[in-house]
Amino acid sequence: MNRIYIFNTLTGRKEPFEPLEKNRVKMYVCGPTVYDDVHIGHARTFIFFDFVRKFLEYVGYDVRYVLNITDVDDKIIRAARERGISSLDYAEEYTRRFLEDYLALKLRPPDVFPRVTKHIEEIIDFIQKLIDKNFAYTAPDGVYYRVKAFKGYGKLSKRSLEEMLVGARVEVSEGKKDPLDFALWKAKKKEEDVCWSSPWGSGRPGWHIECSVMSMKYLGEQFDIHGGGSDLIFPHHENEIAQSEALTGKVPARYWIHVGMLQISGEKMSKSLGNIIKIRDILRRYSPEVVKFYVLNTHYRKPVDYTEESLEEAKKTLDIVVRAYDALGTLISSGDYKHSFRITDEEMNILYSIRGTKDRVLDALSDDFNTREALKELMRLSKDVYQAIVDDKIKSLTVAFQLREFIGDLSNLFGILEEKPISEEHEILARVIEEILKLREEFRKVKNWEVADAIRAALNRAGIHVDDTRRGPVWRIIR
Ligand SMILES: [Zn+2]
Repeated sequence: MNRIYIFNTLTGRKEPFEPLEKNRVKMYVCGPTVYDDVHIGHARTFIFFDFVRKFLEYVGYDVRYVLNITDVDDKIIRAARERGISSLDYAEEYTRRFLEDYLALKLRPPDVFPRVTKHIEEIIDFIQKLIDKNFAYTAPDGVYYRVKAFKGYGKLSKRSLEEMLVGARVEVSEGKKDPLDFALWKAKKKEEDVCWSSPWGSGRPGWHIECSVMSMKYLGEQFDIHGGGSDLIFPHHENEIAQSEALTGKVPARYWIHVGMLQISGEKMSKSLGNIIKIRDILRRYSPEVVKFYVLNTHYRKPVDYTEESLEEAKKTLDIVVRAYDALGTLISSGDYKHSFRITDEEMNILYSIRGTKDRVLDALSDDFNTREALKELMRLSKDVYQAIVDDKIKSLTVAFQLREFIGDLSNLFGILEEKPISEEHEILARVIEEILKLREEFRKVKNWEVADAIRAALNRAGIHVDDTRRGPVWRIIR
């Protein structure tokens, strides 16, 4: 197994990855607050961690993946009131919409999708323990975490207490003893419609406590990877460490992975700027495969400036792989093999290049998940393969199969190749196209280029692209 290196926000450097248990990885990622539909920035995080999980499985780990859903929060309560419905109904609706988007992106659901409102008892328990250990105190408006009681505060974000005071949007509240302290429990306000009873009166959890509670419940006191967008480093993840470590004496996760921000023309996406791009709107125009390719074609820690053109560009680049894969499929299904069992020197070279590509892809991905480098390798191979088909250099069925399998497997790891179930309709369509192409060959034989070109153009209009090779025409469906 390749040694994997991960850039760990906690230590500020790239480190060899060693899970707590041999061959098992436990991973927790902060999911959405369901007050609106997820945007392309959120999707970047979910796509990336879905890939991390698949890659770790690919190299042989057994992965347990938890992605939480924040379904009670100031923003939800406010949005529900504006709509005139209950906060819980509102959160339910947007949880459903989030799951729809998640599945529409063709991401594999995590092992657990825990929701805050289903864990209130455990949250109350956890807070009580923090109070007992004197890391928290009660106030008229709730329960607060005593930041200065925790020595390691700031170790993730590498900020001094002073910097944090300036940087943080410190919430004004009557009960706080120190401006750095943060709420674990918020007492119910008059206008709010959602609350649970607790030893400190009715109210609801603060935001950060849920992740300490749910990660511990599903993954244990210490697990391997904690992920999220880089905007969560402070204060959310800093607070999470403070809560969990105060209780257990251990940093909850050993590797903290943060995904760079996605901006629109250099600005953060926000409701007030009106520049939010919802993933469901993008999926109306682009396939999930194109969106995933777009996301993974940049290194995850790099910030991305989103433009419409960049998605269009991604679609074109991805087509290099699709084209090679489909052409191999056509080649195999044509069944026209004169030398099925003989492998030429040229084919041997192509097979060698598979091995080289595989090594380089694994090296790139093992180096802090460098998906960009890995995809470059896949592109290069696909280009060569397609050219070899056009030049009629692939004659052996074995070689065609191996190439197709390799490109398919690798693409599936990234989730960038659309699975096309072979249906009866599909087979009939393939036969019809083959028959049309045979007719066209008749015209080509008698050098009637006009009709041959007209047939080709007609197929193109119908979404079928045809390339003429020395072995005859190769067709593929245009996306
Ligand atoms: Zn979280």
